[in-house]
Amino acid sequence: MRAKQAEKRYKNLIGGKWLAAHSRKTFENRNPADRDDLLGTFPSSGKADVAAAVAAAKDAFATWRLVPAPRRAEILYRAGELLAQRKEVYAREMTREMGKVLEETCGDVQEAIDTAFYMAGEGRRLFGQTTPSELPNKFAMSVRMPVGVCGMIAPWNFPMAIPSWKLFPALVAGNTCVIKPAEDTPLSTHNLVQTLMDAGLPPGVVNVVHGFGPDAGAPLVEHPDVRAISFTGSSEVGRIVGQVAAAHFKPCSLEMGGKNAMIVMDDANLDLAVEGALWGAFGTTGQRCTATSRILLHKKIARVFTEQLVARTKNLRIGNGLEKGIQMGPQVNQQQIETSARYVKIALAEGAKLLVGGKPLRGAAHAKGFFFAPTIFSEVEPTMRIAQEEVFGPVLSLLQFGTFEQAIEIANGIEYGLSTSIYTRDVNRAYAAVRDLEAGITYVNAPTIGAEVHLPFGGVKQTGNGHREGGTGAIDFYTTWKSVYVDYSDRLQRAQID
Ligand code: NAD
Repeated sequence: MRAKQAEKRYKNLIGGKWLAAHSRKTFENRNPADRDDLLGTFPSSGKADVAAAVAAAKDAFATWRLVPAPRRAEILYRAGELLAQRKEVYAREMTREMGKVLEETCGDVQEAIDTAFYMAGEGRRLFGQTTPSELPNKFAMSVRMPVGVCGMIAPWNFPMAIPSWKLFPALVAGNTCVIKPAEDTPLSTHNLVQTLMDAGLPPGVVNVVHGFGPDAGAPLVEHPDVRAISFTGSSEVGRIVGQVAAAHFKPCSLEMGGKNAMIVMDDANLDLAVEGALWGAFGTTGQRCTATSRILLHKKIARVFTEQLVARTKNLRIGNGLEKGIQMGPQVNQQQIETSARYVKIALAEGAKLLVGGKPLRGAAHAKGFFFAPTIFSEVEPTMRIAQEEVFGPVLSLLQFGTFEQAIEIANGIEYGLSTSIYTRDVNRAYAAVRDLEAGITYVNAPTIGAEVHLPFGGVKQTGNGHREGGTGAIDFYTTWKSVYVDYSDRLQRAQID
């Protein structure tokens, strides 16, 4: 029997101090591949903890906003370097806390490193505009100002990358932050923020409040001193967050779900498309907002593609993501397993045909974790729920089409609009797809996953509300414009009149 592990007790970070929740309540962080493996306990915070964190962030804003942006950026550079040194350690802890395989958690930390360096570069840009005035001896320009205290709420599937997309642009722009990590992955945010502190971030500039959505997330959204909210998670919770923020007239960035389609045309490189499908559908156990969850197959290649994909899927090695050779880890928790199982039932009842998988894995190798077999349905019709709703698990739907136009219509016929992809060798079709697919991201000859940090990330329709993370879109969200007029004429000049 395993010796009892010493319990690590993690804390909130408020005003530079590591503090327990006012209530003293805690929750456990356990490995979804092995429920005996306890990573530690975290504070189960509430309104009072959020209030203390917001007060600390408000205090720190008074000085942080006056630190020159290139100096703020130096801290991000240092944080990027420290993350690179700690990459393997943090990736291992991330695999233990949420299950995806080590190669992917290394990628998650790498995304935070890339974001650190990219956003540090913004410290010497943060460009505004200069423009002629309509009046003589008058100078006109626009400059970016920080927003103030920013509240951030994150999901568990990219537990270091997504917090870095929020924190780093906010910090370089001069804001202070309170972040509430997902309750399934508190450790990766802890590690990220510890790194920022080690890089020299002053106390109170970033504050972390751990806990559950309604207890710790909701008070953050409502707090009057929080000037902007950045939320990533489900459309269901995003709708609540957006409504509360709107009632307080707060800028609010919502990045939510997807039901992402890959189109495979009859002229596609099929080996490449099968390879892409496996990675897109079952990478991160299908728990990516950009996961390939629908594949639309041209009728001419549907049989061959399906046979190849099913054969490759049956050979996937599923297990603890820390073990060599494992290709797919567990789902993050029991609720996600139940959601996958529920959608299998729904799909069968709707008349879809189960080709492989369809149930949790319960053998000796999988007994201690939340493992679900990679699952593929064929004969899926565009209006079925399995073709419309986000599962957020390793459950893939195959649909068929006869013409390019039909493929675009099926791809667009959903409420979401995050990522899309097309496999074709016809450059005309590829560009027409780029133009016509209703989504924030389109890949050509690659699956629906694989975003890079310096391009805008986000979606249309029920995926988002018009903001973008990554790229300069993030800087747009975390700054407000101030227009500045400097009159050096020494007389009253009246715009639109003189
Ligand atoms: P979730 O909506 O259940 O939770 C997200 C966060 O919101 C968590 O931190 C949670 O504690 C918090 N929360 C819950 N209720 C709240 C409330 N009432 N007020 C304030 N905060 C509250 O989502 P999840 O299960 O963590 O993540 C999966 C979802 O996230 C999927 O739908 C996925 O598509 C989406 N996602 C989107 C993107 C994107 O950039 N578009 C990226 C990753 C994940």
